[in-house]
Amino acid sequence: MKIDLTSIVKNNGGTIKISIKEYLEDFKKGIGTVTFTSPVEFNGSVTNFNGMLILKGKANVDYSTVCDRCGEKINKDLSLTVEEDIVEATTAENTENNPDDDRFTFTGNILDLDRILADCLITNLPMSHICRDDCNGLCQTCGNRINSDSCNCEEKDPIDPRLEVLKGFFD
Ligand SMILES: [Zn+2]
Ligand SMILES: [Zn+2]
Repeated sequence: MKIDLTSIVKNNGGTIKISIKEYLEDFKKGIGTVTFTSPVEFNGSVTNFNGMLILKGKANVDYSTVCDRCGEKINKDLSLTVEEDIVEATTAENTENNPDDDRFTFTGNILDLDRILADCLITNLPMSHICRDDCNGLCQTCGNRINSDSCNCEEKDPIDPRLEVLKGFFD
């Protein structure tokens, strides 16, 4: 979504409320093992603060991915507080010799909110995912998940010594 800034761009202190729910173009392909399963929701505002814009709000999206240990599919959601300074593109070019300036930019009266949201969400995506804290990964013996019913390798306990004694009684 592109936000039309006309009403605030020349109006210090002006605010536009933003409430959107939409699928981002950048998210359609997914990222690595992550597939986005819901539209991105953002509720917040953009405010003109002495010619700079301040974007504030909450963004969230649902996604599915796989457990790093066992490969099981897991569903997660990412929710984050957005608070970004956005400078006019021409101003940013003037600070080109300052590579540390990684602030977002806007051009003319248009703010490309999609790009900013996609960027914020991607940088906050966890690097690793596990299906549960005690996931033990895959069984070395049978290749099934150790947590699952299909792995019984652990249950092959040695016979209880008390039962061992009874062996042979009925021969
Ligand atoms: Zn797992
Ligand atoms: Zn097993």
